[in-house]
Amino acid sequence: MAREKTDSMNVKKTAAETKPVEEKAPDAVSPVSASKEAVAATEKTAAEKKKAAPAAKKAEPAKEAAPAEKKAEPAKEAAPAAKKTEPAKEAAPAEKKAEPVQEAAPAEEKAKPAKKTAAAKKAEPAKKTAAAKKAEPAKKTAAAKKAEPAQKAAATKKKTASAAKQKEAAPVTEEKSAPVVVKAAPVNETMNLPRRSVAFIGSECHPFVKTGGLGDVMYALPRELARLNCDVRVILPRYACIPQEYQNKMIYRGEFYMDLGKTGRSYYVGIMEYIWDGVVYDFIDNEEFFSWGNPYTNLVDDIPKYCFFSKAALAALNYMDWIPDVVHCHDWQAALVPVYLRTLFKDSPVGRAKSVITIHNLRFQGVYNIPTIQYWSGLPDEVFGMGALKQDWVEGNMLKGGLAYADRITTVSGTYAWEIQTSEYGERLEDHLRYHSGKLRGIVNGIDYGMWNPETDPALAENYGLGNVLDHKMANKLALQKELGLEQDTGKFVIGLISRLTNQKGLDLVNAIIPQVLDGNTQVVVLGTGDKQYENAFRAYEEAYKGTFSACIQYDEGRAHRIYAGADALLVPSRFEPCGLTQLNAMHYGTLPIVRETGGLKDTVEPYNEFNGEGNGFTFDRYEAGLLLDAINRAKSLYFNNRYHWDEVVQRDMAKDVSWEKSARQYKDLYLELTQW
Ligand code: ADP
Repeated sequence: MAREKTDSMNVKKTAAETKPVEEKAPDAVSPVSASKEAVAATEKTAAEKKKAAPAAKKAEPAKEAAPAEKKAEPAKEAAPAAKKTEPAKEAAPAEKKAEPVQEAAPAEEKAKPAKKTAAAKKAEPAKKTAAAKKAEPAKKTAAAKKAEPAQKAAATKKKTASAAKQKEAAPVTEEKSAPVVVKAAPVNETMNLPRRSVAFIGSECHPFVKTGGLGDVMYALPRELARLNCDVRVILPRYACIPQEYQNKMIYRGEFYMDLGKTGRSYYVGIMEYIWDGVVYDFIDNEEFFSWGNPYTNLVDDIPKYCFFSKAALAALNYMDWIPDVVHCHDWQAALVPVYLRTLFKDSPVGRAKSVITIHNLRFQGVYNIPTIQYWSGLPDEVFGMGALKQDWVEGNMLKGGLAYADRITTVSGTYAWEIQTSEYGERLEDHLRYHSGKLRGIVNGIDYGMWNPETDPALAENYGLGNVLDHKMANKLALQKELGLEQDTGKFVIGLISRLTNQKGLDLVNAIIPQVLDGNTQVVVLGTGDKQYENAFRAYEEAYKGTFSACIQYDEGRAHRIYAGADALLVPSRFEPCGLTQLNAMHYGTLPIVRETGGLKDTVEPYNEFNGEGNGFTFDRYEAGLLLDAINRAKSLYFNNRYHWDEVVQRDMAKDVSWEKSARQYKDLYLELTQW
């Protein structure tokens, strides 16, 4: 039964989407074809025709422009949003809303009829399926199976009852099933900036779950955008590994059932919400996919997991009736979002959103055989062409598809944006990226000054700021040495390395030169986990150089903060580095970076110039151990021979603006550029 429903729904959609994707320029095709098909699908009766018009408008960027502008105005936006959740008003006053004022009208017109037209109904699979299924007894059983928290169970009961009522009522009332939209609160009203709504979709976010820089960005950028008058919602998987303290704060927001690919099954999608500092976090709940201890396991499990997540995220936006101006997705795990947006969801409310995809690390692309991706994603055949998901004639590449379908591509530094179009850094996508270079740009990451602030950082032995760094850094060095069992001596030059221990991070170079670096006046501290070969090599060095070399094979936020504060220099000799955050953290803590000139390292660390004293750190270009050693020796020589100038650089680095503010403005500009209606 479920299967039939699912399939028939998809068949309809597919029929409306069969406009083949031009392999050379898939992104250019979808919106237009969408509009045509949407019109065709709705041309049945005069009344339907009337309603269908706005749906067609949706797909045409120029016409879309007008309605959205209205959304950008907070005051106006607030009103329709409220109306949306008031079905009684909604059912009748379509005409009322259609007459009124200038641009305000089309938006409402568009929003409402879309809900009512056949095309729109077809196109809201999750929403409708959810609403329909909510009324089915089967749902209760499934919901019970999920063993949701008591809170959720109670809410579920309520929902079931209301859904049953809705089923009896006119179809329009199905909209009632979406709970009241909780608007993100704090926006700086004094900043007379245009408002945009953005849904961030990604696989990790500090402090809920973080394995690297992506988690930092997903945390900091939305907060900064909220300050720039963006209404931001972050959609994440509700992994079982999210600490209980945050799980406890989540509030049940709703649930529905969603078909997935060719599985023939209907999957539970719960939405748990947490509102914090102006940002709304919506966690997609499904035990079957997210009950692992780690966010990432292996591709066999991760491919289905993130197909589910990408589709569920969009369905959840429809379900919550929160339609963003821009959907901003991150890395391969959310790369199917732009593809879904222009195919299965193109005629649904969220289909009018623009999409941005950010590459945080091109090395990870979600590559798997096409039948498997197709099975789990349910995406139509045409997206599996060479212009989109297909790679090397056999494999499917989720990131590649996302890049093809997104309206804009960003990556996390200007240099990396250029590098990834070359064969050396392109990870086999360089041609594809060159083809799409017109919509690609680099925006360097920042760091969150709330989270990274030596003046207030609770992890440090002694807090310090720009004014007193020289007095207090030594105390932090001594405390670090003590904590790690190193010889306590402020005269030693302490080099830190905080990193995932993988091939990307230049650890072969580090391994090759440790004996030369440890000259009696130098100590090295490594904090990281990853590949066994590196973990073991660093453990061996610790064994061999007791009191001088410390290998902390662990993930420890507090210790990371103390290393940034207590070390004199921080190594980032990466083979490639899209942006890199550790060098930014280091500079902000008055610790000089020693980096390879690649990606964001090149963009953020100006090499020290011994002739004029300018610069932020020490750099080397080619990936060679000798050059790394040379850079370390240059740092040492400044530290030991010219402490006055060293200290100048310490202070310059601490004063350097590495905050998110400038970068967030660039993202905001990008959103505005995409949504100029
Ligand atoms: P990547 O995203 O490639 O791992 P980035 O430099 O962009 O590298 O981000 C790394 C982030 O993770 C930084 O905030 C860094 O402090 C943190 N980090 C990395 N390894 C550890 C660790 N073992 N313990 C604590 N924090 C870590």
